[in-house]
Amino acid sequence: MIVRNVRILGGEPVDLRIEDGVIAEIAPRIDGEPGIDGGGAIVLPGLVDLHTHLREPGREDAETVQTGTQSAARGGYTAVHAMANTSPVADTAGVVEQVWRLGREFAHCDVQPVGAVTVGLEGRQLAELGAMADSAARVRVFSDDGRCVDDAVLMRRALEYVKAFDGVIAQHAQEPRLTGGAQMNEGVVSGRLGLTGWPAVAEEAIIARDCLLAAHVGSRLHVCHVSTAGSVEILRWAKSKGWNITAEVTPHHLLLTDDLVEDSPVGAYNPIYKVNPPLRTRADVEALRAALADGTIDIVATDHAPHPVEDKETEWSAAAMGMVGLETALSVVQEAMVDTGLLDWAGVADRMSIVPARIGRLSGHGQPIEVGVPANLTLYDPSVRTEVDPSAFASKSRNTPYEGMTLPGRVVATFLRGKPTVLEGKLV
Ligand SMILES: [Zn+2]
Repeated sequence: MIVRNVRILGGEPVDLRIEDGVIAEIAPRIDGEPGIDGGGAIVLPGLVDLHTHLREPGREDAETVQTGTQSAARGGYTAVHAMANTSPVADTAGVVEQVWRLGREFAHCDVQPVGAVTVGLEGRQLAELGAMADSAARVRVFSDDGRCVDDAVLMRRALEYVKAFDGVIAQHAQEPRLTGGAQMNEGVVSGRLGLTGWPAVAEEAIIARDCLLAAHVGSRLHVCHVSTAGSVEILRWAKSKGWNITAEVTPHHLLLTDDLVEDSPVGAYNPIYKVNPPLRTRADVEALRAALADGTIDIVATDHAPHPVEDKETEWSAAAMGMVGLETALSVVQEAMVDTGLLDWAGVADRMSIVPARIGRLSGHGQPIEVGVPANLTLYDPSVRTEVDPSAFASKSRNTPYEGMTLPGRVVATFLRGKPTVLEGKLV
């Protein structure tokens, strides 16, 4: 198969020939069949998400492995890491293998299960990390995401344990006693609205502690969904020590702010903006963008968190926390980082494909676009602007904060090992 007229990382137009799922030739003009016309689209290595909630098993009303991976493919992803907070929790070899098998069955993108750190995400007892690592799913990322491993002794033991198989603990940094009943960012807006605040210090204190613990035991730590300027300062300091720490930021924390809870195009107190960690201030957004640009924050991860309508369209205090994100991630990153001049397309490839694959120890993904590498590719047209229409999503859920907003760019096609999963913006 030949993919014609595409621009690798935004460079000069070339043709790509794909054979047996691998890039076989790259040249300005390849003779032969008409092939697929890329129309001058940018080609990126297939995106890799380190933080996706697929909801299966247990909440198939919100998302399934099938719909979640279709959503991923439409967003340009060729691999996602499926978070462990399912029902049952992915805390055994059996459950992670079940999720992994479902991913292989549907094959819209690769599914790499994340294992829970503690049994039932309860924070009392380590889960069978070794058995999950040795399973067919070969788990390397472990996380209690949704909850924080707040017990310092357990966190230390988890960090020590995963060293044996080059694993990483991905921490949802939230000191639970500082965030009891929290509804939104603690600040001027929460004060005006009378909502219980989620203070920045509850994230920053855990990040500081975990950086010190990871350094103490010489292990790998990954910090999920960094949301505050103070967290960025701590990470910058920890990285200056040469410690083995990585961090992610979500697209929504790069674009949206907490004042939307008070005043937005969809009214006040609209739970579409309720998310954990919460939307922060403009100063936090600026710090996160700068940190992603300078590498203090390593990657963008979606924290795609589908919820059915009845769990979101309710009063603020009762509504579930989270937003879907796979199908809008690249557009939001273009808006926040590329169109602002903070990142070029090589930088986007690095932060949305190459480095997330490296952190997750995922082979076959996140490789530079060269002859001989698996043809996991995303074709993206950055020149269009379109209104976000949730009814077009492949996700089973519609809880996007971008409904009705105009965002740049469009995923034209996605290829998984040379096979198109999306063509002309539509699922194959
Ligand atoms: Zn989380």
